[in-house]
Amino acid sequence: MTSPKTEIKTTTCYMCACRCGIRVHLQDGKLRYIDGNPEHPINRGVICAKGSSGIMKQYSPARLTRPLKRREGAERGAGDFVEIDWDEAFEILTQRLAKIRATDPKKFALFTGRDQMQALTGLFARQFGTPNYAAHGGFCSVNMAAGMIYSIGGSFWEFGGPDLDRAKLFVMIGTAEDHHSNPLKIEISKFKRRGGRFVSINPVRTGYSAIADEWVPIRPGTDGALLLAIVHEIIALGLYDRDFLVRYTNAGQLVNLDEASDDYGLLVRGAAAPEENPEYAHNQLWWDRHSGRPVRTHSEGADPHLLGTFQLPDGRSVKPGFQLLEERVKDYSAEWAEGVTGVPAATIRRLAQEMGIVARDEKIELPIAWTDCWGKEHETVTGNPVAFHAMRGLAAHSNGFQSIRALAILMTLLGTIDRPGGFRHKAPFPRAIPPAAKPPRGPEAVQPNTPLGGLALGWPASPEDLFVDAAGEAVRIDKGFSWEYPLSVHGLMHSVITNAVNEDPYRIDTLMIFMANMAWNSTMNSVEVRKMLNARADDGEYKIPFLVVCDTFQSEMTAFADLVLPDTTYLERHDVMSMLDRPISEFDGPADSVRVPVIPPPAGCKPFQDVLIELAGRLKLPAFTDVEGKRRYRDYPDFILRYETEPGSGIGFLAGWRGKGGEKFMHGEPNPRQWEMYAQNNCVFQHRLPPSYRYMRNWNKGYMEWAQRARIRRFGDPIILQIYSEVLQKFRLAADGKWGTRRPPERLRSRIKTYFDPLPFYYEPLERQVTDGTRYPLAAVTQRPMAMYHSWDSQNAWLRQIHAHNHLYVSPRTAAAQGIADGDWIWVESPWGRVRCIAKFSEAVEPGTVWTWNAIGKQPGAWQLAAGANEARKGFLLNHLISDTLRSPEGMEISNSDPITGQAGWYDLRVRIDKAGADEPQETWPQFEPLARYPGMAEVPEAIAYDAGGGRK
Ligand code: SF4
Repeated sequence: MTSPKTEIKTTTCYMCACRCGIRVHLQDGKLRYIDGNPEHPINRGVICAKGSSGIMKQYSPARLTRPLKRREGAERGAGDFVEIDWDEAFEILTQRLAKIRATDPKKFALFTGRDQMQALTGLFARQFGTPNYAAHGGFCSVNMAAGMIYSIGGSFWEFGGPDLDRAKLFVMIGTAEDHHSNPLKIEISKFKRRGGRFVSINPVRTGYSAIADEWVPIRPGTDGALLLAIVHEIIALGLYDRDFLVRYTNAGQLVNLDEASDDYGLLVRGAAAPEENPEYAHNQLWWDRHSGRPVRTHSEGADPHLLGTFQLPDGRSVKPGFQLLEERVKDYSAEWAEGVTGVPAATIRRLAQEMGIVARDEKIELPIAWTDCWGKEHETVTGNPVAFHAMRGLAAHSNGFQSIRALAILMTLLGTIDRPGGFRHKAPFPRAIPPAAKPPRGPEAVQPNTPLGGLALGWPASPEDLFVDAAGEAVRIDKGFSWEYPLSVHGLMHSVITNAVNEDPYRIDTLMIFMANMAWNSTMNSVEVRKMLNARADDGEYKIPFLVVCDTFQSEMTAFADLVLPDTTYLERHDVMSMLDRPISEFDGPADSVRVPVIPPPAGCKPFQDVLIELAGRLKLPAFTDVEGKRRYRDYPDFILRYETEPGSGIGFLAGWRGKGGEKFMHGEPNPRQWEMYAQNNCVFQHRLPPSYRYMRNWNKGYMEWAQRARIRRFGDPIILQIYSEVLQKFRLAADGKWGTRRPPERLRSRIKTYFDPLPFYYEPLERQVTDGTRYPLAAVTQRPMAMYHSWDSQNAWLRQIHAHNHLYVSPRTAAAQGIADGDWIWVESPWGRVRCIAKFSEAVEPGTVWTWNAIGKQPGAWQLAAGANEARKGFLLNHLISDTLRSPEGMEISNSDPITGQAGWYDLRVRIDKAGADEPQETWPQFEPLARYPGMAEVPEAIAYDAGGGRK
């Protein structure tokens, strides 16, 4: 008997979005178990329950194994399909898409979920010529990205984070219990062992909040009020870092207060030097304390006033941005915030003092010499060791952008940006404010058989960068970059189906969805959206005529497809976590990583990346075709090796082992052995910057020069933190008929004027403003559990044993008022619908809030679960209660989204709870028709038994 052949292959986990390194253990080519890769910089050997359960993904009977076409005459949603081969699938797609591209490319819409390949999907859409492209950001945390990047040039998670190696106080706000999972847990455990103090502000005390030294319960959607009150206290107590504000922010820059002038509210500027880039000219003025007159910022020897009112020689009245901030927060007292947030005023004051005193009195000095962008040499790097981390709890509200601006300003006042112990950037951040990439400006950017004239997603700097027609109306199907959602930098995926069905602003032909369960947990108003997917026009055709869904597993969404394309799992394909997208960079330098196949996919499955490369070749999209019109790339791995952003640019998807022999990094010629070199190096490339480039990167001359050489920054000018946002003020001015030539449609004027405030302010989320708070007194939110990433592992035999149904967690005090006992069946009702579910008592929730796990409830039969499975009979989905549209306070039908960024307001929901009748079925409601097994899917086994030595039985 020969002994079994064992192998260990390294790759990158994709059981959630954290990108940990894993080792996959194989015996005779069969998967045995998965553990963490100790050599990997992200997780250093740590693995979580999800990561080690990846093996059960491979054995799931919900696996799609063949391309499927909806059976002639079958209704969408019934899941009635016939098998086809890939040739036929490509033929159907090529014919349909070629016709669209030759006539009106915007009739093709491509929207993707939490994928890690947006640089490729975005390139495909742009080359196709459609503006209708985005990924999941609009319904995830775009407020976080936009609020932070428009303020400090960077954001949390992939782009930056808390430096817990040196922080002394760590404040986490609105973060899910599995967020940035293994990496953050490792950091927090070290931080706590070092004696750091950890405060968590969250309506719910689970996960990270459960191990915090202090839990501060807060009402959902009121974080902005808390943060503004803390800013008020910090300013009142003089605990801000004046030196930092003066040199690195626009706190001292003068704002024009002449209401009659066309540049009212903009920063006053002197003459720009001819060599200055007008987009980012640094010709703003300070009021110099020494000379008593206006001078250009950073003039030698000058020191600006931060407070006061001044008069320019031409008579205009001006104030420094900081003075305006001080005036803004004057009324945001701790007592006021207590009434809004439920956090006691004394706690707010204590937290503010603690932040300010730790930042001021426990400074860190690192003996690292560096030179700033104005040529001043510094002998040390200083740190004010207060670190923050925040995510979707702050973001997923229709007031989230301004709340996050308030957070960014608080972090700035404390002097913590890109300093030791505070917030630190990760390459390619910091970016310019705003970043240089821009969407197209008008409908002429969409032309038959032509790439899109601009990027589908970008960063508007003013109304001139909006993507609107001559009447000021949206060009995109999701209305991104229109006057309704001007800074929707990640698009509005949650509006696509509703808008397409309403033909608002127009009818599309083909919608391609990748990796997003838009008929269930990734959509608001899920019951109605499911009907919309089946809605027909007067001519009998579906309102969305052709729906393509690409996914690995059968789900609620695949049931509605006209064409299903079976994807591979993460263990069966190549992937890149690219510097062009969302790399795995660390604070000390850029890093990217890959996945390589460790086992072969089933014969009928194809990685979606390969599908796009194949389609791009068949459609002859220019970037994928050579001069003779022949396809340029064999498949996705070949594309990754040879693609360059411009011919000869040396910049590709991967930064490591570039150059002919793999001797270069960041840029260099394509290397035919690049995949192999990544595979030999734990699938990671990491470059550590010299110490003098690792901090103060917004203003660090050495880093800027390196970043330009590495081509991750176009310009080397300093990135000034924006306490006062001139970008926002330009939109306001346009609404007043002043800035540029573009004007909002009349119905949107007051909306722009209200929300585009250059300083953060608090307003109630829009849904609350239009909801009867007496009838619906409770806030209702969801969060992701640690053991299940949204619906990704609904089919996972191991993880289902942890979460097979969900409860509504209710404070016993709140439940008692309604006569509800622990474990009772209850009705949860919002203005938009009702669900029946089981109540569970919890002391770990703020009493005005109820909450549940996201995406545990399922449609019967979905994910090949038995129709009677707990997920379908006891689990429930809160999405049924969340509306995708609202009648705005101004009386318009609008998306239930932030008016600045279009971020979905998931967490603004208001509900009431009532005990279900004793005679009612003990089953969740609403119920849906069970889904059937599709052709090619495996039989569901009686049970899955498994042992690591012998594999599945
Ligand atoms: S946190 Fe867990 S599931 Fe997520 S990537 Fe890391 S090991 Fe995988």
